[in-house]
Amino acid sequence: MAKYDYLIVGTGLFGAVAAHLLTKKGKTCLLIDKRDHVGGNVYTENVKGINVHKYGAHIFHTSNKEVWQFVNSFVEFNRYTNSPVANYKGKLYNLPFNMNTFYQMWGVKTPAEAVAKLNEQKAEECAKLKAKCEKEGVAYEPSNLEEQALTLVGKDIYEKLIKNYTEKQWGRKCTELPSFIIKRLPVRLTFDNNYFNDKYQGIPEGGYTQLIQALIGNCEVRLSTDFFDHKAELTALADKVIYTGEIDRYYDYRFGHLQYRTVYFETELLEGVENYQGNAVVNYTDAETPYTRIIEHKHFEYGTQPDTVISKEYSKEWQPGDEPYYPVNDARNTELYAQYKALADKEDNVIFGGRLAEYKYYDMHKVIERALEMFA
Ligand code: FAD
Repeated sequence: MAKYDYLIVGTGLFGAVAAHLLTKKGKTCLLIDKRDHVGGNVYTENVKGINVHKYGAHIFHTSNKEVWQFVNSFVEFNRYTNSPVANYKGKLYNLPFNMNTFYQMWGVKTPAEAVAKLNEQKAEECAKLKAKCEKEGVAYEPSNLEEQALTLVGKDIYEKLIKNYTEKQWGRKCTELPSFIIKRLPVRLTFDNNYFNDKYQGIPEGGYTQLIQALIGNCEVRLSTDFFDHKAELTALADKVIYTGEIDRYYDYRFGHLQYRTVYFETELLEGVENYQGNAVVNYTDAETPYTRIIEHKHFEYGTQPDTVISKEYSKEWQPGDEPYYPVNDARNTELYAQYKALADKEDNVIFGGRLAEYKYYDMHKVIERALEMFA
């Protein structure tokens, strides 16, 4: 008889929630992770009392009351509200696009003035696109991301707040990116800088690592342990495996590599600097600044430490071996994933879950919903 009911490969949010739910049902779990810490990408590292979001800024938001109550039963969440600021050539704009942004952009003070300005700018771009389509004898339709964005919000917002940021993120010109990447560009006609529309939002007080540790509880954890280095031996320890790593790696890339978009960070401890930028997230929307944004971690928890930690975030073309962050949902990768999924569906004793095993961008609340669906 195996020693454990479940071997959980990966101590990220999915693996940790699965461990909690299964333990509650009386099952025994062994968790392993190839990294030297638990938490996967939500891991926060304490540097001089500041919880540093090591794999990128993570803001918890959900409208699902069950999920909100679930996470709050382990740790207390603060009232953090994501309100990024954009820096375009030294001038600051509030995000998401709202009355504050329109005031900063055009000096308009009422929703009616903002709508009039937006409509005027959009109409100019729609007329240009119409003329171009007529000349080319094609149906009126944006043919790339630039045309799409221009017709949705007009020239000023596109050029100052969208164009360069998007080009830095994707490493390609907006005229070479497909229009579907930007389906909608919501504008808010209120003075409301809250980035998310969800009902609940916050950051776990003391960092996400505490949430993960509380979820894992007393389960045994083996860190710095790559599943594939000890596959036979580890698999023999449990009746079932829950695998939260990359699905293509599980099958030894037999159909080829799934692709990702990746980011990397330059993190600095600024000793003696109490407050570097006055906000957790500042996006750099010009072309000259090489990074896309700067995160100042202490502001996620209203920190008052004498020092600060900042991370400059850069986008980069992914290559095998890089940290896999965002799945690329194009036709080639969707087809490739379907081939791997067909193999996974035939497995009797292996359950695939989480963002890497399902090759899907999941926000944290969605990962929890998925784990609740599968194991509660
Ligand atoms: P992971 O966290 O990746 O965990 C998988 C774990 O498996 C890792 O620890 C890995 O080391 C381990 N593993 C993999 N292969 C092996 C192996 N062979 N052997 C042993 N261990 C292995 N969500 C939000 O809700 N709000 C946000 O603001 C937000 N910001 C984000 C910012 C960035 C830059 C990114 C990339 C994501 C963001 N997310 C955000 C999404 C969030 O990170 C995910 O929802 C969450 O981390 C998914 O958890 P997971 O357990 O599926 O995956």
